[in-house]
Amino acid sequence: MPEKSKVSENSSRKVYIRTFGCQMNEYDSEVMAALLQESGFELTQDINRADFIVINTCYVREKVKHKVFSFLGELKKIKMQKPHVLLGVGGCLAQKEPHQLIEKAPFVDIIWGTLNLDELPELVKGAREKGFPIVKVKEKGFLPDDFSTIRKKRFSIYVPVIRGCNNFCSYCNVPYVRGREKSRSMDSILKEIEKAVAGGCKEVILLGQNVNSYGKDLPEKIDFATLLSEVNKLPGLCRIRFTTSHPKDLSGGLIVAMAKLKKVCEHLHLPLQAGSNRILKLMRRGYRRETYLELVDKLREYVPDVSLTTDLIVGFPGETEADFQDTLNMVKRVRFDGAFTFIYSSLFGTRAAELENQIPTNVKKERLRQLIQLQQKITQEKNKSYLEKELEVLVEGTSPKNPDELEGRTRHNKMVIFPGDTSLVGELVRVKIMQAGCWALRGEPKS
Ligand code: SAM
Ligand code: SF4
Repeated sequence: MPEKSKVSENSSRKVYIRTFGCQMNEYDSEVMAALLQESGFELTQDINRADFIVINTCYVREKVKHKVFSFLGELKKIKMQKPHVLLGVGGCLAQKEPHQLIEKAPFVDIIWGTLNLDELPELVKGAREKGFPIVKVKEKGFLPDDFSTIRKKRFSIYVPVIRGCNNFCSYCNVPYVRGREKSRSMDSILKEIEKAVAGGCKEVILLGQNVNSYGKDLPEKIDFATLLSEVNKLPGLCRIRFTTSHPKDLSGGLIVAMAKLKKVCEHLHLPLQAGSNRILKLMRRGYRRETYLELVDKLREYVPDVSLTTDLIVGFPGETEADFQDTLNMVKRVRFDGAFTFIYSSLFGTRAAELENQIPTNVKKERLRQLIQLQQKITQEKNKSYLEKELEVLVEGTSPKNPDELEGRTRHNKMVIFPGDTSLVGELVRVKIMQAGCWALRGEPKS
């Protein structure tokens, strides 16, 4: 390995950013892009032209960690050929395992934690001057409310409303890698959205690990429903989405707000995780299957055509066949529009990792197969209910499979593919649904 060399201030300064993980990470990468641009970098989509390569990491399951390490393996080759290229690793994995990272990838120049995001420009400057790895990971603290961003999409934007999590579900890394809950001030959120709308934004996706906790830590008496109603008032904005809602904190007020506020889309992502009360308790989720069902009934009463999606984990420690059947039964009872399904991943430092009765991989895989099969059947049936209907689609781009087709989402968060010109990207288009598959609907645009 060549000796680490200092990077000259005069180098061309192009930065390439690779993001792993959730929407919050996507947003943080948009912040990193802005911070680095302000300090003189130009963004590039071509990794081979970059002078600085940033990986914004995720650590929600072990599998994601392996993906990050495999990407780091590719970066090692670049560093061998071009020692002047700076390598930086930020995000959740960097927060939780900075020392393991530097041990396994000593060729990395900068490692920063999730709570050190705002320090990125200084760290880059330090790495250039020092020429040896810098590791900066704050254990506690909060990020500022306001950041500049360079948006990937102008017409649909992510906006964090609350960062961190106080829930400590027994399987989850998030509270360890993202710190405690902190709500942003309503003023800062509204200003960020207003600015984006002035630049052509039509849809906002409000983000938080548990948006229903919004406001609990603020001096004013406001909650998430109040925030929604204020965002709903912003002229020019067409759609409001939000994720994620925790079932234990989903209030009647929020359900009413969803029913009443015109811009709030008819879609709720409400992670169930498991259908067995015994497993829900071991997961420390704070609700029972009966309470979840009551919430779904109430939601459907107020927003009859609501589309409901969820997260489900199979193979949690001690999950018996009967517990798994409870999950399948809940899926049949609720009939979700879609589900993100996960095999339980044991994460060091979480309470669940210490539980006995870890489930063998073959059993977990078989349960996942059965769960996916059931959910796909339900999704397909639900999607068929949209046939012949005319829906509003926010066009996101060309279809990756066919450049003559466009793709976009309905208010119910259904992907729709239809023939059309790229001039429609970012526009709201009415589309008549002609075919319904499991992953997407197909249709014809209406003039
Ligand atoms: N805050 C959200 C909530 O409470 O539902 C979830 C955030 S988490 C980043 C996204 C999803 O990853 C979870 O809902 C859960 O289904 C899944 N997940 C988290 N930890 C996991 C683990 N150790 N193994 C498998 N899936 C996990
Ligand atoms: Fe993780 Fe639970 Fe917090 Fe969601 S609510 S981020 S699953 S600890």
